[in-house]
Amino acid sequence: MIGNSMNPHSTENLTLPTQMLIDNQLVGGEGMSEQILNPATGEVLCEVREASTEQLSRAVAAANRAYSAWSQTTPAERSAMLLKLADCIEANAERFAKLESLNCGKPYTRALGDEIPAIADCFRYFAGAIRNMHGPVAGEYLAGHSSFIRRDPIGVVASIAPWNYPMLMAAWKTAPALVAGNTVVLKPSEQTPLTALLFGELAASILPKGVLNLVCGRGAGVGQLLVEHPSVRMVSVTGDISTGRKILAAAATGLKRTHLELGGKAPVIVFDDADIAAVVEGVRTFGYYNAGQDCTAACRIYAGAKIHDKLLAELTGAVKTIKVGMQDEDGVEMGPLISDRQRNRVAGFVERAQMAGHMEVTCGGKIRSGKGFFYEPTVIAGANQEDEIVQREVFGPVVSVTRFSDEDQVVGWANDSEYGLASSVWTNDIARGLRVSKRLQYGCTWINTHFMLVNEMPHGGLKASGYGKDMSMYALEDYTVARHIMVKL
Ligand code: NAD
Repeated sequence: MIGNSMNPHSTENLTLPTQMLIDNQLVGGEGMSEQILNPATGEVLCEVREASTEQLSRAVAAANRAYSAWSQTTPAERSAMLLKLADCIEANAERFAKLESLNCGKPYTRALGDEIPAIADCFRYFAGAIRNMHGPVAGEYLAGHSSFIRRDPIGVVASIAPWNYPMLMAAWKTAPALVAGNTVVLKPSEQTPLTALLFGELAASILPKGVLNLVCGRGAGVGQLLVEHPSVRMVSVTGDISTGRKILAAAATGLKRTHLELGGKAPVIVFDDADIAAVVEGVRTFGYYNAGQDCTAACRIYAGAKIHDKLLAELTGAVKTIKVGMQDEDGVEMGPLISDRQRNRVAGFVERAQMAGHMEVTCGGKIRSGKGFFYEPTVIAGANQEDEIVQREVFGPVVSVTRFSDEDQVVGWANDSEYGLASSVWTNDIARGLRVSKRLQYGCTWINTHFMLVNEMPHGGLKASGYGKDMSMYALEDYTVARHIMVKL
């Protein structure tokens, strides 16, 4: 059991969950073993064994069996169970936050204060939303025949989550899928399974047998088999673009419904009349939150010609004050990256930007020596539109700044991206904010803020950022199918 001490990089008194959930049984994996690391120290926390092929089949079979009864429960019955899940997550908030912070390296206070409340609220939101679905009117669209629309669940959903917000992504995927009457096989990232495993352990005493199953394993093995399983009717994945492509290809064979939340490269358009202090504070926070390992990170700044120099100077000064450290350090704002591999990837982007000659690293740009996978918060000035640092997702604490001259140019540059997830516009002219937001090809545009998410509003992308919405009523649409019922009168 967890101790009272909230030292998140201590595993003393903390039981690390390693068992999967299959047909309501907690079982150890029988496949290969994966080392689970603490990114702040690089040390091994525990080993989690993957599901064997046979265990994976059992998980899907359990979900398939459970579907017939679960899909026939009333919204009120499913809602009650989601409310219990929310209460249970809240009751175990410190344990969840400790495991998340330990396994991802993120500051404990942020995991506890930001993520856990959002997770509990996600379950509560969908518990309410399923009881309030609306649709088109029934009617006699053909003489002598009445038509109406039903929204029914789809079947077994494979939910595949990434490592950056392991439990939050598990919540975004499982809450709408389950409450809509689907059954789920959840596969967390092989690097960060701990909070999902705890969720499975707790859900076993709340949900009926087989409704939620949880299997561990690598993407190319267990993930791929799960996607290909003939009884899986829908695949929901949050991950990299390349992963989305592979999953789409695998799902295509069985013509399965897919829900893809892929990467992002959020443009942050700062007009000359913006409140510079608000922009600096916003980018300092939303560009480096979770060490920039966020698909909506405020990472691609376009600054108006007049505000550019002042913004760059103030942003550089502010980013230098970001406190980087261990999960439990007083006032820590940013932790390490998830892995050495990810850190090398980030370092590679910065090195290539430096080598290009026309860009300047105004702060950071270095690996922090010592234990753990730390990288300094970095600002890169002088980036041009065609530069790799402007075009590709870094997924690390690196923000680029590019000068623009007018509205048309910056809208063109912002849209000149394969991504289309999130964007922001900073201006004191609300008409311009609305005008520009209308022209941006992004799933979300914030005006004078960035990164703020609410369960009532959808989150999802355009273009290579994928399709499908998390959160909101739109997610319930994604996890249900519209059916036409016609009666001859
Ligand atoms: P990833 O693509 O490496 O892995 C995501 C998940 O997919 C993991 O569980 C992995 O095991 C699984 N997977 C990988 N290959 C698979 C395959 N062939 N078949 C089935 N499953 C497979 O992504 P990651 O590195 O864990 O996460 C980072 C990426 O996720 C970034 O690109 C980031 O932008 C994106 N992301 C997007 C959003 C969003 O809402 N759009 C949110 C968070 C993260």
